[in-house]
Amino acid sequence: MQKKIKLTNSYESKHSSKREKDLFYSLCDKNPNQIKTKDFKNALLKSGLKSNDNRLYDLFQKLDSLGDEIYFKDFIKIISSSELLVEKALRGELALPDFSDFSKSVDEMYDDVIKNKSGELASYIPPLAKVDPNQFGISIVTIDGQIYQRGDCKVDFSLQSMCKPFNYCFALEKFGLELVHKHVGQEPSGRQFNDLTLLTRSLVGKSNKKLTRIPFNPMINAGAIMTAGLINSDDTYEKRLNFVKKQYGKLIGWSANSKFDSKFPRFNKDVAREENFTGYNNLAIGYLLMATGNLPGKKNKLKKDLNTNKNEFDFYIEPTVVDALKLYFSICSLEMTATEVAMAAATLANNGVCPVSQSRVLNQKTVRDCLPILQSSGMYDASGAFFQEVGLPAKSGVGGGVFLVVPQLMGICIFSPRLDEQGNSVRGIEIAKRITSKYLVHIFDGAMTNADRVDPRIPISKWRANSCGEAIWAASIGDIRTLERLASEQKDLSIGNSDMRTPLHLAAAEGQLKVVQFLLEQGVKPVPDRWGGYGYFDAKNNNHK
Ligand code: GLU
Repeated sequence: MQKKIKLTNSYESKHSSKREKDLFYSLCDKNPNQIKTKDFKNALLKSGLKSNDNRLYDLFQKLDSLGDEIYFKDFIKIISSSELLVEKALRGELALPDFSDFSKSVDEMYDDVIKNKSGELASYIPPLAKVDPNQFGISIVTIDGQIYQRGDCKVDFSLQSMCKPFNYCFALEKFGLELVHKHVGQEPSGRQFNDLTLLTRSLVGKSNKKLTRIPFNPMINAGAIMTAGLINSDDTYEKRLNFVKKQYGKLIGWSANSKFDSKFPRFNKDVAREENFTGYNNLAIGYLLMATGNLPGKKNKLKKDLNTNKNEFDFYIEPTVVDALKLYFSICSLEMTATEVAMAAATLANNGVCPVSQSRVLNQKTVRDCLPILQSSGMYDASGAFFQEVGLPAKSGVGGGVFLVVPQLMGICIFSPRLDEQGNSVRGIEIAKRITSKYLVHIFDGAMTNADRVDPRIPISKWRANSCGEAIWAASIGDIRTLERLASEQKDLSIGNSDMRTPLHLAAAEGQLKVVQFLLEQGVKPVPDRWGGYGYFDAKNNNHK
């Protein structure tokens, strides 16, 4: 028996608007009074939203409790808890309007790139050296919470250096840009990620020239150990690590009663231990940061507790250095899935608001301050070349993950543990390059549109209509300049509208002789319109000689 939600007539008339009716009719098949529950569900899922999305959980529960058909009065009640999201999904107005096409393209990239087996696993610690090298997952989360997943995107992997931008954000949130950058720079280092060289900077005041040395930026080890050292430095290690885990939890939309896939970040003690056993270079960096006055020492505070009376010499190990390294190693050893990391990246893409929880996790300013550093220094020694080609802020780690941020659109995470010489995931880089070569998402793409690449933010039909509409309009009024621009952008000037009327038809019909000449010079061939007519007849009919 069908369960029906009871609604009074007054509810219906008071609350139902034209918008809701339009949405309802958009789902109607033959009978205008009812829609199929299955069609409604499919339309939502096809848009890229998930049934365990917290914002839609109640809605899907209600749909499951209903029968095969839904009447209008039930429909408005069901969608009331998430009406705007449902409306955007059904109207094709989510961040990626052609989600199915987009997914198909990324599927093709996946199927191609999976053949690439080059690269080596990170081998400096056993837990990373023994992961399955064939793993490959891609996850993409848009700022509206549409989710694309393929392959091993629910497998836990070690965050490693992917934690660095987030540590930086947490430090920025606490201390602000100016103070954080008294301890760490914003400059590309031009050196390996674990290099001990520091940036020499002269302090303000020309008369009193004082030099200071700080890590080049927060994405290399020295800078990341520094920012880890800044996070809640007065708290115990346990509290600090827990704070960081909680922040990650917020970035990925985790909450105790969330239905969504994300879990509370996992800490892999074995990885942290191995980092500690082998991380002599990082230990050296820790003391270097101490020696240069970047990490505030505790020696003076602790002096009274040191046993100076005993005969033997008590070797003093600076706790600040130990604390900073212990926290840094631990955060590198957190594990997440590609979907969780893509969600964190989507939170960055969404100016600090997590797409599925809709909670602000980071200030807008923090995100804006972080992304340029990723752009210049996020991809180890390949950062410059990567940004030039892919044009997106990104961060990789030796655990095989790489995430990319497409501001105001989506976060992407690729996990595949074989690394290239620079320490970046081979397949991760390959997918990133293919995404930019197919889609207009390079930050500097603005003026460089061409016919082969599409803007994923615009429905394909509109994209086509826009350029053909503009050419037709320009041809009809004799605007050669616009046509020249479109030609230089490699737009196809022979595309017609729904009646197959092309720019050549319109130019001929309006007597725009120069435009006709221009189009023919461009190689545009006269084609018949829907009624079999050529531009030549248009010109003749309108008495244009
Ligand atoms: N835990 C690693 C280290 O500090 C990070 C390696 C990486 O992903 O760059 O050496």
